[in-house]
Amino acid sequence: MELNTHFQQLPNNYLFKEIEVRTKAYKTAHPEAKILRLGVGDVTRPLPLPIVDAMHRAIEELAHPETFRGYGPEEGYAWLRQTIIDRDYKPRGVNLDLDEVFISEGAGSELGNLSELFSSANRVAILDPSYPAYVDSSIMAGREIVFLPCHADNGFVPELPAKPADLIYLCFPNNPTGAVLTREQLKVWVDYARQNKSIIIFDGAYEAFIEDPELPHSIYEIEGAKEVAIEVRSYSKTAGFTAVRCGWTVVPKATGLQHMWFRRQCTKYNGTAYVAQRAAEATYTPEGRAGIRANLAHYKGTAQLLSQGLRELGYEVYGGKNAPYIWCRVPKGYNSWSFFDHLLNDCQIVCTPGAGFGPAGEGYVRFSAFSNRKDCEEALKRLQTLA
Ligand code: PLP
Repeated sequence: MELNTHFQQLPNNYLFKEIEVRTKAYKTAHPEAKILRLGVGDVTRPLPLPIVDAMHRAIEELAHPETFRGYGPEEGYAWLRQTIIDRDYKPRGVNLDLDEVFISEGAGSELGNLSELFSSANRVAILDPSYPAYVDSSIMAGREIVFLPCHADNGFVPELPAKPADLIYLCFPNNPTGAVLTREQLKVWVDYARQNKSIIIFDGAYEAFIEDPELPHSIYEIEGAKEVAIEVRSYSKTAGFTAVRCGWTVVPKATGLQHMWFRRQCTKYNGTAYVAQRAAEATYTPEGRAGIRANLAHYKGTAQLLSQGLRELGYEVYGGKNAPYIWCRVPKGYNSWSFFDHLLNDCQIVCTPGAGFGPAGEGYVRFSAFSNRKDCEEALKRLQTLA
């Protein structure tokens, strides 16, 4: 037996574990402290009732012989896939075939699993900073990584890779910088992928935060993208499904990969939970939609409160518009982790150190609009005393 030694190249500390360790140590030393968690990447508002009701009904069906169901289709039920096509794509002028949409248990596992379709000799381009899954799963697969630095000078929009990339992970609206791409900026990437015969894995986990009518919601709104892009979407942040687990992946036939992915799923995935798919379906009903819109409006309000509040306190702030994350430059004399420690020790505020998302994240911290609104208000007061 030989181990996959690529695992030894993974960074030792998983960012969120390290934050927990430091926060717990502080809490143990100061049990009376009211810690304000402003780094939360998870949703915090409860599921809207119409969605919970749909799940109850689905469970009830499973409880009776005449409505019981066993395994569903590996690629998901047609009623959900067709609804996604009709509601998420057709209104944006994107036509997809039913067999190009695959229901998943969320974006996280898909982002790593999709890389099974490609040779480990492929070079991967990844934004720096970025959500850790792209880098970690590429390291596990033994791929060479080209980093695409995103910093204030390029507006957190990456330049094309210096070395040709076979696979490209893009995520917009971006975690952690909150940056978005215009149609023209996204077209640059689609054109690059067409010229270089690369594949873009487009992570649209935060699509629901887009407000600006000019911004593209799907990479397929760009001409030619169906030949070169796989799109990964999730109900996690759109509808509060981080515990429910449901999302979808689009693998267009024009990529030449649809059949491979179907084959892979039939072997390794036995389908998304029926209850989760019924819950996802309920997000499209008028009542379900109203519920998720109310939650999204709340988070968007928190994003605005945080970015405005931080800006008024003199911080250099990015993101927070069309995205739930606020990317804040740390004051002079600090780096990401020392500013994290400073906020924890002197204000009992927990943020997310930017350096944990990649070297270009150094010098920034991330605040999140998923944080409790009252905690954000209190945090801004505490920061005032610090300023
Ligand atoms: N992609 C990005 C950019 C994320 O930030 C996250 C979770 O925070 C995910 C994917 C994973 O989402 P899911 O809950 O659908 O697995």
